[in-house]
Parts: sequence; structure tokens; C-alpha cells
Amino acid sequence: EEGEERDREMATGYRAEEEYDYLFKVVLIGDSGVGKSNLLSRFARDEFSLETRSTIGVEFATKTVQVDDKLVKAQIWDTAGQERYRAITSAYYRGAVGALVVYDVTRRVTFENAERWLRELRDHTDANIVVMLVGNKADLRHLRAVSPEDAAAFAERHGTFSMETSALDATNVERAFAEVLRQIYHVVSRNAL
Ligand code: GDP
Repeated sequence: EEGEERDREMATGYRAEEEYDYLFKVVLIGDSGVGKSNLLSRFARDEFSLETRSTIGVEFATKTVQVDDKLVKAQIWDTAGQERYRAITSAYYRGAVGALVVYDVTRRVTFENAERWLRELRDHTDANIVVMLVGNKADLRHLRAVSPEDAAAFAERHGTFSMETSALDATNVERAFAEVLRQIYHVVSRNAL
């Protein structure tokens, strides 16, 4: 029956109206190569790619998840390479209520740059935006260059949350996004965003 429904959708271009209580825009930022697009594809489609993305252009993906008793549609935006030219437009940030500031745990410089990304984010978004510092590529244990303590200190200094992930083996990816969405929901339900 599900197959029939899909066939009908494809034949008519019609899609049953999707139901959700909230739509939250969340942006991914951080240096090129830290794994932003793979975090997104792991979260939205449970896919990972060893290739470095070749296409340029803003992209987003959506996924609807349960947060407490609400259905939240997460619209996650990926820079799709704009950061290489330090040319992220203000349209990218517009309306964002959450952000993942991503660094690569094996490349110290990407962690050091997280401060700059956070500043850029703060310049373009509401003060109550929910931010999570994400140390990706945690599977590469032998190459680690940033300790969890460094990340925790950064998070405390800047009033954000932090978590380590691996888009490759899927560790904490679901959890990181879920946590951000849950925090956003709490802020939104206090009418603070
Ligand atoms: P972006 O430029 O920040 O979007 O980074 P990409 O998602 O394109 O990833 C850059 C490279 O790092 C690609 O070769 C990915 O396969 C690799 N990569 C991404 N996430 C992980 C991860 O969690 N672990 C490992 N080992 N490699 C990763």
C-alpha cells in the first residue's frame, strides 16, 4: 500500500500534506572539510561519503523528529562550500534558531577557528540562538589534536553545548541534532525566540 502511495505521488506530483508543530532552521558552520555535509547526510539520509563534495551552492535537508510531545521539522542548512571563500551570505543565517559550529578533532586549526565562526554567527542571528560546538571525526582516535577538555572549556566560556561526533560511524550524530532541536524547542516555548 505504501508503494501504491509513492507511485501516486510520483505520477501526480502530489504529496500528502506533512504535519508538524514547529519548523526550525538550523545552520551548519565551520571550516571547509570538517564534515558538515556528511553530518547532514548522515542525519537526514543516514548516508556517508568519502568524497569531498564537488558542487557548490547552498543546500538544505529536512527531517521531522519528535521532541517531547511535538513534531519538529528540522531544516538543516549546509554551506555547501561557501565558507572556502569566507563568503557566507546573510541569507544563510536569516531565521536560524540553532547552529552547529563544527570543527575536526584531528585538525587543531579548525577548532581555533570555531571562535571566529561563533562570532560571525552572533553577528547575524538572534542572541537566543541555540549553539552546539561539534567536534567531528571522533573515529580518528589516533589522530586526535583537540581534547574533550579543550572543547568543554570553549563551550563553557561561550555558553554553548558541546559534543563529539563521527559522521563516518554515526556516533552521536542523531544525538547532537536531537539535543539542539530539544534546546530550541525549550527556548521557543518560553517565547524567547
Ligand atoms: P565539509 O566541507 O565541512 O562539508 O566536509 P565534508 O562533509 O565534505 O567532509 C570532508 C571530508 O572528511 C570527506 O572526505 C569526508 O569523507 C570526511 N569526513 C567527514 N566526516 C567524517 C568523520 O566523522 N570521520 C572521518 N574519518 N572522516 C570524515
